[in-house]
This record gives sequence, C-alpha cells and structure tokens, in this order.
Amino acid sequence: MYRSLAETRQALQSGKTNIVELTRTYLQSIQEHSHLNAFLEVFTEDALRQAAMADQKRQAGNPGKLSGMVIGLKDNLCYKGHKVSASSKILEGFTSLYSATVVERLIAEDAVIIGRLNCDEFAMGSSNENSAFGNVQHPLDKALVPGGSSGGSAVAVAAGLCLAALGTDTGGSIRQPASFCGVVGLKPTYGRVSRWGCIAYASSFDQIGPITNNVDDSALILEVIAGQDEYDSTLSTVPVQEYSQNLAFKGKTKIAYLKDCLESEGLDPAIRASMEALFDKLRAEGHIVEPVNFPYLDYVIPAYYVLTTAEASSNLSRYDGIHFGYRSKRAIDLETTYKYSRTEGFGKEVKRRIMLGTFVLSAGYYDAYYSKAQKVRRLIREQTLATLKEYSFIIGPTTPGTAFPFGAHANDPVKMYLEDIYTVQANLAGIPAISLPAIKHPSGLPSGVQLMSAPFSETELLSFARYLSALN
Ligand code: GLN
Repeated sequence: MYRSLAETRQALQSGKTNIVELTRTYLQSIQEHSHLNAFLEVFTEDALRQAAMADQKRQAGNPGKLSGMVIGLKDNLCYKGHKVSASSKILEGFTSLYSATVVERLIAEDAVIIGRLNCDEFAMGSSNENSAFGNVQHPLDKALVPGGSSGGSAVAVAAGLCLAALGTDTGGSIRQPASFCGVVGLKPTYGRVSRWGCIAYASSFDQIGPITNNVDDSALILEVIAGQDEYDSTLSTVPVQEYSQNLAFKGKTKIAYLKDCLESEGLDPAIRASMEALFDKLRAEGHIVEPVNFPYLDYVIPAYYVLTTAEASSNLSRYDGIHFGYRSKRAIDLETTYKYSRTEGFGKEVKRRIMLGTFVLSAGYYDAYYSKAQKVRRLIREQTLATLKEYSFIIGPTTPGTAFPFGAHANDPVKMYLEDIYTVQANLAGIPAISLPAIKHPSGLPSGVQLMSAPFSETELLSFARYLSALN
C-alpha cells in the first residue's frame, strides 16, 4: 500500500496502476480489516465512479491536485445523497441534503471519497468508545483504544484503508487519535477551514483537518480545503498559501515548551524522557528550546468543558425527533416526541454533556460558570499568544500517555477528560496545532509530539513539522 500521494503518483505515472485499481485495493483492504470497525459505510460504487473519472482526467492531461488520493470522511461531515450519523442513533436514516464545503473541494480536485468513518457520538470522546456503532480497535492491539473522537479516521489511515482522512478537532479529536495511532493530525487555525456541512459540536472550537501518513499530504489537503466560503461567516480573509509548495524549513528557530506540561504529574515518564531527548536534539541542531511558564494548565480542562458543553446543549437542541432522523415509537404528542426520541436516540456521554451545558447556562449559574469560563479562555489565549510572539513554536507531548485499554476510564469521565489536557489549549486559543509521530516509546506504541504556532502560520508550522519528522 502506498503511504504518500507522492508514491502513489509515481506509481500512476509509471503506469503500474490506475486510480480505479488503487481504489479496488483499498476496498479490499477495508474488507480484510473489517474487525477494526473503522468504517461505518463504504461508498463502493460512488468511489469507483469517481476513480474512473479521475483516471479519465489524468489521461486527458488535466489531473486535479488530489488525483490519486483516496480519502475517508469522519461521520460528522455531510456528503450529498449519503448517510451521515455522527455515530449517533438519533440520526438514524438521515441522508445529507448537501455536501460539506470541504467535501466539495476535495472532489473538485479529484479525490476519491471511499466511505464514512466511525467516531465518538457527536465527536464527544477521547477513545471512540462513545460510538453508537461499536468500538474502533487500535490497529496494533485489539485491547487498546485508537483514541477519539476521530478514531476511525486515524485507524483507517494507519492501517492503510485509505491514504488520508478528514477529522474534526474541538479539543484534540484529530491530534489525540493521530498520536495514539502513529499518524499525522493537523488542526488548522480557527477560521481557516469552512465548517459548512460539518455537524456542529461546539461552534467556537470546531475545526476540520486532515489525518495523513506524512506532513506533505497534510499540507496539500489543507491547501485544497482552506479558505473563504460564503456559508461560514467565521472564515478569515487571510489568504491561503500554497502550503504544499513551501515545506522547506531553513534556519534556526526559537521554540518554547511549557514547563507545567512537562512537569505535570500525569505525564508518562517515558514520554517525558523522549521529549527531553528531542529537545536536546533540536538544541544540537542549533535551535533554542526553552521552558516557559503556563500557569493555567489546571484550568484548561474545566474551561473547555464548561464552554463546549454550553455550546453543545444549544447545537444539539435541533435533534428533537421531528426535524432529523430518529423518532421514538412511543411518541404520542409533542412532549413525548422530544422526550422519548432524545432518551432513546442519544448515548450516555452526549446526554451528560447536554445536561451539563444547560446547567452552566441556566439563569442562576450563568455568571458563575459560563461567564467565568469565557474569562479564563481569554486569559489562556492571551498568554498563549504572548508566548508565540517570543517563540515560533510551542512543543510538547500530544497526550500524557499512549493508547489505553478499553474500559480504563469507564467509570471516571474526568479521567477521560484529562486525556485532552495538552490538546485543548490550541482550541481555546484558536491557534493551529499538529501532532507528529516523532518520538519513540519503549512499549513500541506510537506517541505524538505536538507543535503549536501563531494564528494563520500554517506554512511555518507545516514546514517545521516536516523538518522535525525528518530529524528522527
Ligand atoms: N475529547 C474531547 C471531547 O470529548 C475532544 C473532542 C473533539 O475534539 N471533538 O470533547
């Protein structure tokens, strides 16, 4: 199986294969790995039709930028005429009426969309155990979680079921599973990529981004999906650069690491040691790597969960048993339609978050929780941006540990929430961040390095990420 678009292109150019044949190979691989439960649905016919068209365009001498790339979509991205469920029973039977902007842009550049990928219900989770359609297995060990919420996306790429996938990242859902599965996951700057057609979880956090085997493919996908869209007013007017053409990193740079993260109790000592070794390596290459203080580490998770659940409780109120998908058979009037459809349609974690969100927004508690969390968010953003004025990048581990066993946090949601301790900062601050499989863990399991950078500095972030990947 080819592990990059460059390799794929070479094979296509030499005439060794064509896109239809490639697509068939992936379809076969999906079948052979069905035990991983990464795909909720495979779009066999449509994928083969798109592949045939892409082959024709190649032959005619005008291939799109993504010609030869076979991509999977996280099941919270709409694709016209295809089912989408956010891995929830409440969207049972629902078919997308239009395509997400990102999907349209991928197809316009000749990508083949191969299917929809399992995830945590409504993208809420860090282990993919919250899907209504079963767990996704880690490709290296069936007892381990793949991470979440874009677990199916990370597994599909790691196991060679597609060349790349799209995920969404509200608090780490692209980077954390990428870290657990040993692939590259990029969360772009807030406002870089349109969310039109993405099923909303927490709208002031959500971003769509690629999961790939390498930085080059990530850069190319970002270049294709980024940029203004009349359907998403949060998008920035900052021009999209040709990320894939500007990946050469030169010179020496200044990198910060957050002392509080490296010293935090929950961090696996082996990851800490590998990070320190990596800092030394970077210093030996002539870069400055220095500790900085980040006194808000204890507040990132509480602030994140107050704000995202508040937003989720509003976003998910549209699932009422009337407008979309599932309606309870027990419904006899308006109230029972709402009540039973939601009771039966939503899973436990989603219900927990809707309740928490309505609580923090309720009249008597709004100021104590929601307003307070907004202020904390502001402090976190300001402190993070101040660090990024002095340093080009913030480096650290993506996750405090490697992939954990199924059920490990089953009775303790707060423990599960702490899995996101290093990733939510980028979402709270709205900055871009990438996870790379750039350190080795003694267990042999993958473990990611996270880089964060200033808003809209994806060119610098990607070029440095590529340099760092090659350093090992
Ligand atoms: N694990 C985090 C959560 O459960 C992040 C989810 C995400 O980024 N979509 O909210």
